Amino acid sequence: MSNTVINVENVNKSYGSLKAVSNLSFSVERGTCFGMLGPNGAGKTTMSKMLYGNVLRDSPERSTISVLGYDPLYNELEIKSLAGIVPQEDNLDLELSVEQNLFIYARFYGLKKKEISKRIDELLEFMELTEKKKSRIRDLSGGMKRRLIIARALINQPRLLILDEPTTGLDPQVRNLIWDKLRRLLREGVTIILTTHYMEEAFQLCDRLIIMNLGEKVMEGRPTLLVKENIEPYVLEIFNQEKPIDKGDIHDTVRVEGTESRYLLYSKSLDALKEIASRYDPGDVFIRQSNLEDLFLMTTGRELNE
Ligand code: ATP
Repeated sequence: MSNTVINVENVNKSYGSLKAVSNLSFSVERGTCFGMLGPNGAGKTTMSKMLYGNVLRDSPERSTISVLGYDPLYNELEIKSLAGIVPQEDNLDLELSVEQNLFIYARFYGLKKKEISKRIDELLEFMELTEKKKSRIRDLSGGMKRRLIIARALINQPRLLILDEPTTGLDPQVRNLIWDKLRRLLREGVTIILTTHYMEEAFQLCDRLIIMNLGEKVMEGRPTLLVKENIEPYVLEIFNQEKPIDKGDIHDTVRVEGTESRYLLYSKSLDALKEIASRYDPGDVFIRQSNLEDLFLMTTGRELNE
């Protein structure tokens, strides 16, 4: 049996003259978490929706999408019945209770009544929502709604979970809880594909990822290796400068990005950055290791959450 769960080759999607996704290719291995990281408008949602047939790709004869062996263009229903899908928007039925929302979904999948109530209890326990079973959706917090949507996507025990920005707008505590649950699913062998504009989320969860900007893939690989292999390891952040920093005073092995409100100085040499930092008020400087956000800035000139 092939280990490739998703295969995408040369996929394009345009809206009028706007190229939302441009010549994208990637593949996802069974039991791994694959990320699409990029800022607003990078094309992540469009790509994610093309995987389950909610958006149709351009020129299908010159491109490939295979999800669990099916082409979403022709086998949307097969994919939807085998995969769990967590869309970006909260699309729960506000008039119904937590339990009823799950019940209706389970009926779509043809589960029997007895099976359904057992599965609902398991899922509510898994997502730590048991005490909200009888609550109306309008009485739930944003974090509870997201957890319920994930529970709903798991009702058919999918081997593939497609999540579009699962933790956007949630506080760090709920975000961590969701990450823990997703890690547990990965340990159980579920394949996960997720879109995010949080570098930390990609770093925490993804075995591999692509970084996207304006519809294009700008980089692909394992998060730690991408950082290790493509950018200087240390960054000095300098804040609150009234005048531009004098680049003449900085060794040319140190790369400078940013403007008065926040400079970022990158180097292989921690000592070089420490020396520069010593020229400033300690409250205005901070040295740290570089990360995916820095890599994105270096490759695109943009910030992930600008
Ligand atoms: P976000 O993080 O904001 O969801 P994204 O990376 O998911 O961003 P997409 O939602 O895929 O990006 O959008 C990519 C581009 O395609 C954007 O410029 C967006 O305005 C455009 N777009 C998306 N859907 C449509 C549509 N139905 N009609 C026209 N343009 C669209």
